[in-house]
Amino acid sequence: MTSPSHDVLIVGAGLSGLSVARFLRDKQPGLKLLLLEKNNHPGGAISSHSEEGYLAEWGAHGFLDNCLESRVLIHIAGLKQEVEKAPLKEFVRYVCLDGALKCIPQSPPKIIKAPLIPFSAKLRILADLWKKPLPGEPTVADWVEYRFGKALIPFADAVFTGTYAGDINRLTIDSVMAGVRDIEKEYGSVLRGLWKKAQAKK
Ligand SMILES: Cc1cc2nc3c(=O)[nH]c(=O)nc-3n(C[C@H](O)[C@H](O)[C@H](O)COP(=O)(O)OP(=O)(O)OC[C@H]3O[C@@H](n4cnc5c(N)ncnc54)[C@H](O)[C@@H]3O)c2cc1C
Repeated sequence: MTSPSHDVLIVGAGLSGLSVARFLRDKQPGLKLLLLEKNNHPGGAISSHSEEGYLAEWGAHGFLDNCLESRVLIHIAGLKQEVEKAPLKEFVRYVCLDGALKCIPQSPPKIIKAPLIPFSAKLRILADLWKKPLPGEPTVADWVEYRFGKALIPFADAVFTGTYAGDINRLTIDSVMAGVRDIEKEYGSVLRGLWKKAQAKK
């Protein structure tokens, strides 16, 4: 008896493994793929459950559609009709600081005016304009502290915990915000880069 052979072995049937399998199969239909999953259901971090008439998500509930790949994925998964656009203009984010919920304004001028951090910490953010790009692959926490100061760490924590349920002391900034890192390297400062990009758009 000969053991079955495969051209490609994919470990893990989460979003990454399933997407790779689908893209490979579309590219080369003859490929013999084997997708291994240790759990008894696919999906990895993404799973839904219904309870008392409500649909709840254990993992991701949203995604960015500003890259072609995510739109292609939605299309080939046949989910185009089910996707709901998030009303970003009405989007409100709260962060729990010192035991109280604080609303984070969603536009940079309002963030600067909001009494969320001391004035000295607001000035510290401007140091980004003079800081050299941080080499290597720093963690989100190290990178935020280096560029913008310690006071912004709880806010970065809220954003990345809300998005990846990850630990900002372990996630690297290059893996979660490659675009922002590119801006930092190209313009030598995130603030300057964002400002120049906004000017160019105008
Ligand atoms: C609470 C939460 C909220 C999130 N919210 C968002 C969001 O709103 N938007 C967004 O874009 N992202 C969000 N994320 C992140 C997103 O869900 C993940 O980045 C993505 O699902 C990861 O997919 P993956 O396939 O890379 O990894 P996983 O989903 O972790 O899949 C890995 C799979 O590999 C399997 N596996 C591991 N080792 C083995 C082995 N040795 N043999 C066989 N199988 C193995 C695991 O069982 C698992 O099924 C969220 C994550 C969490 C946890």
